[in-house]
Amino acid sequence: MDDCIFCRIARGELPARLVYENEQVIAFDDISPQAPVHVLIVPRTHHESLGDGVDAELAAALLLAIPVVAEAAGVTRSGYRVIINTGPDSRQSVSHLHIHVLGGKPMSHRMLRFGDEAETTR
Ligand code: 5GP
Ligand code: ZN
Repeated sequence: MDDCIFCRIARGELPARLVYENEQVIAFDDISPQAPVHVLIVPRTHHESLGDGVDAELAAALLLAIPVVAEAAGVTRSGYRVIINTGPDSRQSVSHLHIHVLGGKPMSHRMLRFGDEAETTR
């Protein structure tokens, strides 16, 4: 995809701080980190989501990159959270499949937070 941000990062056309790369995937720091460690793992090829033509080999490459990235970021022992936002309800904002790897500080017990209404009625 010519104008996809993550395709352009994968092609080296846009800058990013690389954490890890191999033939199938590339991992780089999120531009707006939500935790001390916030790395995005993306396939080099353009897929909107896991359901968009991702084969078993690529799925394995994406999953296996997670512990490698965690190790490179120094959070293997302290732990980390992995998130894949998919589609509008998840508020996926970049339509190129990406795995968030978040860590470096203790996180909320609540993994899920639904919109403003849920926040204010609790
Ligand atoms: P989403 O909300 O789609 O799950 O996550 C998209 C992520 O991409 C966000 O955390 C956002 O900060 C990050 N992002 C958006 N544009 C860029 C960019 O140009 N470079 C980098 N490194 N991250 C980006
Ligand atoms: Zn793309």
